[in-house]
Amino acid sequence: MSTSTPTGTTPTTGANKRIVIGASQPPLANDVLTSTQKVIHEALDRLGYDEGYYELLKEPMRLLTVRIPVRMDNGKTKVFTGFRAQHTDAVGPTKGGIRFHPNVTAEEVSALSLWMTLKCGIFDLPYGGGKGGIICDPRTMSLPEVERLARGYVRSISQIVGPNKDIPAPDVYTNAQIMAWMLDEYSRIREYDSPGFITGKPIVLGGSQGREKATSLGVAIAIRESASAQGMAMKGLKVCIQGFGNVGSYLAEILDRWGANVVGVSDVNGGIYNEDGLDVPNLLDRRDSFGSVTNLFPNRLSNDEFLTQPCDVLVPAALENQITAQNADRIQARLIVEAANGPTTLEATDMLHERGVMVVPDVLANAGGVTVSYFEWVQNNQGYYWPEEEVNRKLELKMVEAVNKVLEMAKSRRITPRLAAYMVGVQKYAEASRLRGWC
Ligand code: GLU
Repeated sequence: MSTSTPTGTTPTTGANKRIVIGASQPPLANDVLTSTQKVIHEALDRLGYDEGYYELLKEPMRLLTVRIPVRMDNGKTKVFTGFRAQHTDAVGPTKGGIRFHPNVTAEEVSALSLWMTLKCGIFDLPYGGGKGGIICDPRTMSLPEVERLARGYVRSISQIVGPNKDIPAPDVYTNAQIMAWMLDEYSRIREYDSPGFITGKPIVLGGSQGREKATSLGVAIAIRESASAQGMAMKGLKVCIQGFGNVGSYLAEILDRWGANVVGVSDVNGGIYNEDGLDVPNLLDRRDSFGSVTNLFPNRLSNDEFLTQPCDVLVPAALENQITAQNADRIQARLIVEAANGPTTLEATDMLHERGVMVVPDVLANAGGVTVSYFEWVQNNQGYYWPEEEVNRKLELKMVEAVNKVLEMAKSRRITPRLAAYMVGVQKYAEASRLRGWC
């Protein structure tokens, strides 16, 4: 790794420290439910399941809408709308995060619950998918307001969640502190300690070692395995990371430690690139709590320029719909590993596949988070806690197995890794639904 600054750029002022509520990611476009359904349909079809299975699995089995009155700091009450979607309980309780974002919609939460099912299916976790969301903007709220909202949401959904029913976790703009408030509210309602109700908690409240970095470690392992399938080694691998939030920044740190060459990073302010490699520790040091660092460098690249820079691996770790039909033919990477949810459109996935660029899909690459959430829940249930090395070793085994299974299926059937991942992911739920007599 080079210690030079990006070409033609010098750092300016120090990082602007701010209070962080959670990872910054934008909401998904509403058509995301339709495109997810399209791939699920094709996956079920290729696996030989008839239309009845698609009818059952195309939408969440339950979608609860709640209205939550919150006393704001100015003394007035504001009513927030929230959702909790439970896709399928065919193999066990449902599982998935809660996002706080102004653009949350019922469709988005539904689509995200389908993706959680696929992640749990690919990683053979004993859950179906779930997802929650509240329409709000925590960046404009005080912490006590966020706390009252979090507690109000738990009171509103308490009947349908629980350690053996539906287990929430953090997602966009929610974090371990919010999980702690939610856990406390739930335990008060139930009148017994129930750490397995929610994951992504602080360690002292029963959180798991390794959970915070789990998504990034999983993405790093997915990069290593898929690069190796393409004949590329980790040492010197040129990687561009779009997005420097929690996932992108921990990922840069891990890849740098593993000997890869992080040649580009970007955030909301633009991208920086140096073909000899960036000084990752310096960038991590200077990034602010919303994941901004490139504002310290003049001559930033636009998002489009950044995505089309030369590199071996491109990791979209920020927004949805970033790699589209407009830029897919100009992407120079040989491998795209999706750390964000939904960064590549279906059209772009096909265009890249035809050009021989492998796209490792989100439901495979970023499932390290829910996998370690599962480990957290197991530790809560048995009341026995594992050291970080053990958590990471177990994650490594799961990731290596899942990535290789999906890539082998994609190769042998000559289909995209996305379709292969959906086929692997959905099969368990179709089979369980058949055995339960639902289809
Ligand atoms: N929100 C994360 C995801 O989308 C984690 C979910 C969980 O840990 O249950 O995968």
